Amino acid sequence: MRFLLVSLLLACVSGKLSAQNSPVEIIKVDSTTTKVKNVILMIGDGTGLAQWSAAQSRVKDPLHVYRLSEYLGLSKTSSASHFITDSGAGATAISIGEKTYNTAIGLRKDSSIAFTLSELLHVKGKSTGLVATCGLTHATPASFFAHQLNRYMDKEIVEDFYGGFIDVAIGGGFPLFDTARLHKLGYATYLYKNDNFDSIDTTDFVGFYDTSNHPVKYSQGRGNFLKDATMAAIRNLNKNENGFFLMVEGSQIDWGGHDNDPEYVISEALDFDSTIAAVGKWAKSNGETLVIVTADHETGGLSLYEENGNKEAQFAFSTEHHTGIPVPVFAFGPMSYLFKGVYENSEIHGKILKALNIKP
Ligand code: MG
Ligand code: ZN
Repeated sequence: MRFLLVSLLLACVSGKLSAQNSPVEIIKVDSTTTKVKNVILMIGDGTGLAQWSAAQSRVKDPLHVYRLSEYLGLSKTSSASHFITDSGAGATAISIGEKTYNTAIGLRKDSSIAFTLSELLHVKGKSTGLVATCGLTHATPASFFAHQLNRYMDKEIVEDFYGGFIDVAIGGGFPLFDTARLHKLGYATYLYKNDNFDSIDTTDFVGFYDTSNHPVKYSQGRGNFLKDATMAAIRNLNKNENGFFLMVEGSQIDWGGHDNDPEYVISEALDFDSTIAAVGKWAKSNGETLVIVTADHETGGLSLYEENGNKEAQFAFSTEHHTGIPVPVFAFGPMSYLFKGVYENSEIHGKILKALNIKP
């Protein structure tokens, strides 16, 4: 109750200061002492500082992720086997808290099984969720529920999903899932193309974008799927009085980098940023939610430059693959100070558990 009063008081003060230039109503909570009930981990696949800068070059106001960030860190992304990680090892390092070999999903570098954050927190009584703009068996979301030798083992990965450690999952992957089996396990299923996600009211469900494996690009008409899916997940996960853990992936920012297509990178990053705005607004009013926005690695070796007196940013890529530079970690909400500094990607796992006051 004391924290609530302090928060309300601070809200009045900061509201006056920031209302003018902020579309998001900032309700400050004490980022060093307030208890954390929920964690929302947002991963922009392939999203380094250059990708954020490219997105920023297209909008006048500061990116929502910049505005909301209270503490900033750098995550070193190399895997156990390579200087340059793949998305399996990158997400697995965050999920299990140990670096592993490229292509591994939820396994240590010696191929033994380690608990993912979702599994650990589910066991501790929290609800767990995943949202992605790719198929749900793709490397990043898979690293939060599956344990497989290789990220391309889709059949085995989806089999692990039926283990039931994820309460809410929204993304692509429809052709790989057996909906009858999902129903038998107690999941409701929805299609974004047919169903209104705002009216979903159940604690266990799987939402698919449509019947294809990967949702289309934002520029091809995906609309507000990422934001709508994320808020539908949060609204239903939040029914658990013990709190929740949600991983949200902006999956296709990486694909724009692989394609060396700056417009693809920018539109996907801005879509991710508007989802961050919605999450930020919810988290700030909730007051017990820690939000972390990071990446598994940078993709494309993107750089921004000027050309021939043209003052607009130009974009150049140095590779069609990932790079090995550290990526930013933006954090806000209670205990967000834990994410300042320069550290290995595998340390994010322990920081999340520490914020939740959970011993592994
Ligand atoms: Mg990914
Ligand atoms: Zn990639």
